Amino acid sequence: MEKALQLDIVTPDKVVFSDQVQYVGARGVEGEFGVLPGHFQLLAALDIGCLRYTNLEGDKKCAFVGGGFAEVLDDKVTILAESSELAEDIDQARAMQARERAEKRLEHRTEEIDADRAQAALHRAITRIGVYSEIH
Ligand code: ATP
Repeated sequence: MEKALQLDIVTPDKVVFSDQVQYVGARGVEGEFGVLPGHFQLLAALDIGCLRYTNLEGDKKCAFVGGGFAEVLDDKVTILAESSELAEDIDQARAMQARERAEKRLEHRTEEIDADRAQAALHRAITRIGVYSEIH
């Protein structure tokens, strides 16, 4: 078999994905990057975004990642994510409710509302809706 990468996506409460893949593409805070077997060692902070990977059958997949870190070492890619779901596990209705909640908070700002937190929640919700719609 051709060389492969071991991809592990973990959050504080679960292992979201653990399998061999051909390719991983991630959205780092300093820009997008792609990883193929033989990639140099890398540690990168991740933005909220879609993590793309190509499985051994050649299917292109994506997972939502709510920020975190990516480590690449010896053909092993470890994603330590604050939150993450595979595209097929995204609950669209929940993401739409989260978007609405965050939009309301940002529209009706009071001193108690943490705008950065609402903005991040909005970014997560919009990104989840985007990842969901890629496969539906
Ligand atoms: P919400 O307000 O709906 O909880 P959130 O952006 O604050 O959204 P996170 O803190 O990113 O949620 O994630 C909390 C947990 O809920 C994680 O385990 C995450 O995988 C899961 N989760 C959040 N939103 C969704 C969704 N739309 N579909 C599936 N799982 C979700």
